[in-house]
Amino acid sequence: MEKFIDLTNKVALVTGASRGIGRETALTLAKAGSNVVVNYSKSEEQAKELVDKLNSLGSKAIAIRADVHAEDQVIEMINKIVLEFETIDILVNNAGITRDSLIARMSISDWEDVLNVCLKGAFLCSKYVSRIMIRKRSGAIVNISSVAGVRGNPGQVNYSSAKAGLIGLTKSLARELAPRGVRVNAIAPGYIKTELTDRLSETVREKILKATPLGYLGETKDVANSVLFLVSDLARYITGHVLLVDGGMGM
Ligand code: NAP
Repeated sequence: MEKFIDLTNKVALVTGASRGIGRETALTLAKAGSNVVVNYSKSEEQAKELVDKLNSLGSKAIAIRADVHAEDQVIEMINKIVLEFETIDILVNNAGITRDSLIARMSISDWEDVLNVCLKGAFLCSKYVSRIMIRKRSGAIVNISSVAGVRGNPGQVNYSSAKAGLIGLTKSLARELAPRGVRVNAIAPGYIKTELTDRLSETVREKILKATPLGYLGETKDVANSVLFLVSDLARYITGHVLLVDGGMGM
């Protein structure tokens, strides 16, 4: 049967793909036919298990360990991908962490760690991958921001700043790369069921559900399907957009 979205022969790099939204995104892109690079920083076993699963789907997949905020590791990762696949067509800047606390108690390292992974990581990966895309005059980048970067969130000045920064990066880069045939978009998820949100207390969870018009937490597939749309030709006239995948929370 002909695929509605066909990514056969494409090469996608998904950062932070060992679990959660990144893992689901890798699976979704592979099901559409893409070859997939699973990036991770610590969770080697989970990354390898995912690679086996992706390969069983018929796409070619490899796992590469790299800290997205370490420039030398990012360069090494991109070089490995080019050696293996010759190119990169899709970049999903998904790696992210939280270090929540009220500002009075937030340490410099809580601030820097989050900005480094969520924002500097996306900057570095975009910098080195866009060179390849510019040469081909095609490519699609999707940055996973957050509704916290659009609306703010108490206890998350570090995370909200990084995720709002990611929206600025998305729009500037979209303008920079549009003449070169490369599209750049962002997704701002609301609360999605993953290990990141499993840590929320019952009270916080109830508050979130009250603030979500659809009345339930999202699933990783809700974000992954939006990534699939944005990287596909169905979205060929969309760049610099921030797509809220949040059950209506951010409107
Ligand atoms: P998660 O389950 O905690 O997964 C995070 C992923 O990022 C893991 O694969 C982790 O791999 C990787 N990672 C962390 N630091 C890294 C680094 N320095 N270099 C490379 N990879 C790194 O998180 P998630 O909930 O799926 O979230 C994914 C993205 O969506 C994040 O950017 C998050 O901010 C965003 N988001 C999530 C929600 C939500 O409700 N879940 C809402 C809005 C936005 P290792 O363990 O190997 O480090």
